[in-house]
Amino acid sequence: MTEVVGHERQRRLLAARPAQSLLFVGPEGVGRKAVAQWFARGLNCEHGFPPCGVCASCRLEPHPDVRVVAPRLATKSGRVARRPQIHLEQIAPREGSDEESLLEWLQTSPRFKAKVAIVDDAHRLGEAAANALLKVLEEPPSYAYAVLIAPSREAVLPTLASRSLTISFGPLPAEQLRALSDDEAALGYSEGAVGRLMAALADPAGLAEAEAAARDWLDALASGDPAALLVATERLRERAEGPFDPWTFVARDLATWPAASRRAALEALATLHEDLEAYVSAELAYTRFAFAMRRIYAELRSGSPPPR
Ligand SMILES: [Zn+2]
Repeated sequence: MTEVVGHERQRRLLAARPAQSLLFVGPEGVGRKAVAQWFARGLNCEHGFPPCGVCASCRLEPHPDVRVVAPRLATKSGRVARRPQIHLEQIAPREGSDEESLLEWLQTSPRFKAKVAIVDDAHRLGEAAANALLKVLEEPPSYAYAVLIAPSREAVLPTLASRSLTISFGPLPAEQLRALSDDEAALGYSEGAVGRLMAALADPAGLAEAEAAARDWLDALASGDPAALLVATERLRERAEGPFDPWTFVARDLATWPAASRRAALEALATLHEDLEAYVSAELAYTRFAFAMRRIYAELRSGSPPPR
């Protein structure tokens, strides 16, 4: 059983009021999935909440009554999907599919007390899959629980959100993370998320590379040389596909910019992410972003930042 760090208030609420349909919202890596697993353990523990860690149920890993559904990273043709999705056949039985869907899994009684479905990245449910899941949320078997994980309540379909009790997870206080590590680079990257801290501690070289790519990009932006900026942008794009988000470091630098320039830069960044989600060619989207940033930076330098 994995240890959960923090989120005491949320866990007290879950133990006191274990709703059958829950929506956990908050930033990636902050501990939503760990608490969902903790919740499933508590429901099945011989001694109830908090899970004891030593009974017959708590000792099982993975637990037979817990099922995690997550977006597929590969498309049917085996290519890596840029916008991964949870497909209908993962939720409901479908002709020609031999995998056991979530609905089929939920039809049989639990081995212990409760079957818990954890739907990771619930904002990536395809429409048909979401509608199939909705049927379970409307009339779940008495032993069935569903925990949807998403960045925000607004990100998931309103019909799913309205059926679920929403519980918010925020970044952990700095002292709680400092109790786990004194590595300043990793703590700086964590932004209050245990998952990010652990990933950074496990791969300090990878973290340093992401930071270097971000620093080089900011240098290229400051140099005013468009060719250098495009080279640095390409490198940043490659890094952004890796385990560490170089934007964390870019965003930290933006925090020191004048408010109007910073706002314009964050808008350019949001447009980049929208373009990528909308399947615009990544190269084109990044080039567009680089030139938008170049314009914003030039205006900042000339002392005439974009109007508020
Ligand atoms: Zn137990």
